[in-house]
Amino acid sequence: MFLDLKSLRRSGKDSQSFFYEYSPEKDLIDIPNTKLDLPVKISGEVTLTGMHSAFISGEIAFTLTGECTRCLSSVTREYVAEFDEQVEENNPDGYSVVNDTVDLGKIVEDAILINLPVSFLCKEDCKGICLNCGVNLNEDSCKCKN
Ligand SMILES: [Zn+2]
Ligand SMILES: [Zn+2]
Repeated sequence: MFLDLKSLRRSGKDSQSFFYEYSPEKDLIDIPNTKLDLPVKISGEVTLTGMHSAFISGEIAFTLTGECTRCLSSVTREYVAEFDEQVEENNPDGYSVVNDTVDLGKIVEDAILINLPVSFLCKEDCKGICLNCGVNLNEDSCKCKN
């Protein structure tokens, strides 16, 4: 998934909005029993800032489906990751413009990884399961305490 700065410049415009659906080739997600639903949806805008540089911003809507790490119930949760990057040729601090194109896929993959939850939970205050009797403490109270 590449943005072509040359064709944008040829069009005579300074900026252009874009919308993509994208499926990373490799497995991005390293959470047990959890996967990224594909494709992810990306919307954004690219603005030319120089001969071979641009500012790219937007947001990625992605969904994770898997198992709550605490109570093991199945969960689907939606997330939004935002990104804004200044890209230029031979950029040591960020993403580079190569042959007047920008690898948007790389930016999107990195933004998803940065915005992954630390632990994948059905809800932030999930009570988990009782390690003793296996009751899901979100649904039932446990009698082990007595
Ligand atoms: Zn849970
Ligand atoms: Zn119990």
